[in-house]
Amino acid sequence: MNCESAASLTVGCRLQVRIRQSNDWQMAEIVSIRKMGDKRKFYVHYEDCNKRLDEWVTEENLNLRDVQRLPCVDQTSESQEKIMLTTPKKCGRRKHRKHVKKEENSSKTTSNECDPQEGMITNSRQKKNETLVKNVEMIELGRYRIKPWYFSPYPKELCQMDCIYLCEFCLKYCKSRFCLGRHLSKCTLKHPPGNEIYRKDTISFFEIDGRKDKVYVQNLCLLSKLFLDHKLIDFAVDPFLFYVMTEFDSRGFHIVGYFSKEKISDQDYNLACVLTLPPYQRKGYGKLLIEFSYELSRCEGKTGSPEKPLSDLGLLSYRSYWTQAILEILINPNPGPNGDRPSTAINDISEITAIHSGDVIYTLKSLNLVKYFKGKHIICLNHDTIEQHRSAMKKRKIRIDSSCLRWTPKDWAK
Ligand code: ZN
Repeated sequence: MNCESAASLTVGCRLQVRIRQSNDWQMAEIVSIRKMGDKRKFYVHYEDCNKRLDEWVTEENLNLRDVQRLPCVDQTSESQEKIMLTTPKKCGRRKHRKHVKKEENSSKTTSNECDPQEGMITNSRQKKNETLVKNVEMIELGRYRIKPWYFSPYPKELCQMDCIYLCEFCLKYCKSRFCLGRHLSKCTLKHPPGNEIYRKDTISFFEIDGRKDKVYVQNLCLLSKLFLDHKLIDFAVDPFLFYVMTEFDSRGFHIVGYFSKEKISDQDYNLACVLTLPPYQRKGYGKLLIEFSYELSRCEGKTGSPEKPLSDLGLLSYRSYWTQAILEILINPNPGPNGDRPSTAINDISEITAIHSGDVIYTLKSLNLVKYFKGKHIICLNHDTIEQHRSAMKKRKIRIDSSCLRWTPKDWAK
């Protein structure tokens, strides 16, 4: 439809929007609308783009010539999509709830309702969309200022501040630098709580029990939600262990990233959530976290797999990790006891790498390395694959050294 003025736009409309600081236009959906004085600002989600690019735009960046509206579905069904900040529940052994879960798909509603006091143009859809709009402007964590990507349920009064100040060791959040200063004068932590189970050079891993260090782990979940999409946080963290990776310098052990893992997993999941904080991304730390998760599985004498769904960045890291770990075995197999080339059946690869056989098969297929030859499936390496692998491995400077792990697996079922 043709739309003359932005005043008639509502949440759910789709239209072309100019991507910030560019001349590129992209189809986008209006997720939220805010009234500021007599102007309106529109929070938009660009189609086929990750939600981390969602942003507030002004009217000038909207193409009003072709606006598509939602078909009017007047539903008042309760949305299942909610982010709860509750006290952790005691969980039965077999009935774990992921501490961070995928959001349920919500139905679309369009009934309008005005809320002039708030200066907001709301309808029920917009209310539901609250958790889709980034609510934290900026965080300060140690020496980094980081712009969040997604919504996280920090207290509302903190979200109105220009910046939330975090203690980089206990992850407590403060509303001002002054408050943080007061906290730091009392906070004695210089590393995450829990046990340091790995140290090599400046890299350490701390194992934290969600049942024991509840406050820390809840603060960690709040922080990580800022960078993990489509997650439902219910803060039932008891059934999880958290492995926080740090980098050491004279001031302490600084958090780089973490992964969580269920204490007991019926499906052999060895990782629930994984995150490398933005200042440390694209430096190989994501792969190091993944490599560590498989090192723990190897210690347990198990193979493991990450819980699905993975985030887009998580999936990229995993694909690349699996490819490298599997090719490493295929290209440089450890010789057998008589110096002969050992067989490399799927199960052998799986056992050596601790990567679940399903993920091994998925990776070999996606690399197009499985061929059917004389009635058998065989793995066929070509020159290009080997060369690509060698140059990729040269870039992988930091690796997990299994001799630096001080850890005995615990049987949580007991
Ligand atoms: Zn602190």
